[in-house]
Amino acid sequence: MINVEVLSLGPMDNCTYLVSKGNQSLLIDPAWDMNEIEQTLTEKNLNLLGVLFTHGHFDHVKLAHTLLEKHHLKAYLEERDVPLSDLPLNVLHTYQGDQTFNIGPFDIHILATPGHTAGSVCIQIGNFLFTGDTLFPGACGRVDLPSSDPRKMLESLKRIASLPEETILYAGHSYGGRCRSSVREEKQTNPFVRNALRGEE
Ligand SMILES: [Zn+2]
Repeated sequence: MINVEVLSLGPMDNCTYLVSKGNQSLLIDPAWDMNEIEQTLTEKNLNLLGVLFTHGHFDHVKLAHTLLEKHHLKAYLEERDVPLSDLPLNVLHTYQGDQTFNIGPFDIHILATPGHTAGSVCIQIGNFLFTGDTLFPGACGRVDLPSSDPRKMLESLKRIASLPEETILYAGHSYGGRCRSSVREEKQTNPFVRNALRGEE
C-alpha cells in the first residue's frame, strides 16, 4: 500500500510529496524547507531511498542539494531541464524522455510531458501521478517561460487525459488551496484539458 503525504512548503504554495511504502520512502520536488522535510522523515521513521524532480524550476529544487548530500542520494531530473536548475551536476541522475525503473519497492514510470518546460515530466507511482507544473486542478502550467511550448503542452495534457480515469493527480502547487484531483475530474472540468482533447488552442 502506497501512502502519499503532502508538504506545503515555501512562499509559492509548492507541494513536496513524501511517498511511502512500509518504512521506505521517496520525495518528489523537495524544496524550500529541508528542516521540515527531515523532521517529517524522522517522525514517521522513514528511510529515504530516492528523490525525483518533475522539472528544474528553482521553486521545485531550492536547497534540495543539501538534503541530497546529507542522504548521499542523487535526484532524477530530465536532461533538458538541467540548464534551468541551479543544482550541482554531482547530485543529479539525468535522463531523456520516458523511463521506467525501480527504487526499492517503488515501480516508477516517468512520462515526458513537455510544455511548461522542455524537460517537464509526470511521475507515475502506482495509481498516483505527480504532475508538477504541467497540470493543476482546473488549470495548466504557464507556457510563456523560457523553454515553454504551448503546442507540446496540449499534447501533454492529452497524454494525461489518456490515463485511466481513476488515476489520482497531485500537482506541483496548491493554487486555490488544492493540489489533488483525478484524471476523471480534470477531463470533466478542466478547460485546458477539454480544449486539448478537442484539438483547440
Ligand atoms: Zn515550474
